[in-house]
Amino acid sequence: MRWPWSTSPPPRLDDPQADVLLQDLLSRDASRIHAASSRLARLFSATTLDALAPQTEGIEQACQGVQLGGALVSNDVHLQAALRRLRYWRERKGCLCALYPDYLFFDPRRLIEQGHVRLLEQGVAEDGWGDRHRVACTCCGQHWDATDREYHYPWWEWTLLALD
Ligand SMILES: [Zn+2]
Repeated sequence: MRWPWSTSPPPRLDDPQADVLLQDLLSRDASRIHAASSRLARLFSATTLDALAPQTEGIEQACQGVQLGGALVSNDVHLQAALRRLRYWRERKGCLCALYPDYLFFDPRRLIEQGHVRLLEQGVAEDGWGDRHRVACTCCGQHWDATDREYHYPWWEWTLLALD
C-alpha cells in the first residue's frame, strides 16, 4: 500500500479547526476519516475551508485504499462530499448552497438554526411523504425546497426553486 507521507510528517495548519480535521483525514483510521469528512462536508467556516482547500489532493491520496465501511450508506459518500466541497471552494465556483442537493445529509432544521438558510414556509411534500421546508439562502438569497425523506435512514432532498 502506498503511503505518501511515510518519510515526512503530515503538514500542520495554523487554523486550529482545519488542523484537527486534516490530521484526522490523513490518519488512515477509518472512524476518524468518517467523523472528519462528515463534519467537513457540512462546514461553512471560510478560514477553515481556505486552510484545507490546498490539501485536497493530499487528503484524497492519503485516504486511497482505506476501507471506510458503513452499514446502510457507504461512508465513502462523506469523504467524496468533503473533497467536492474543498474543490468547489478552491475554484470559487459560487455559493455553498449549490452543494445542498449533492449530499443527502443537509438537515434544513440544522441549517435554519445555524443561520445558513431562512425559513420561508413549512408544508408537506407534494407526494405527501414528509415535511417540506421552503427556505432562502442567507448568503445569496437562492430559494430551495428541502423535503424530509427516509429510506433506511433519514435524508433530505433539495430542489432549486426559480426566483420570480
Ligand atoms: Zn446560497
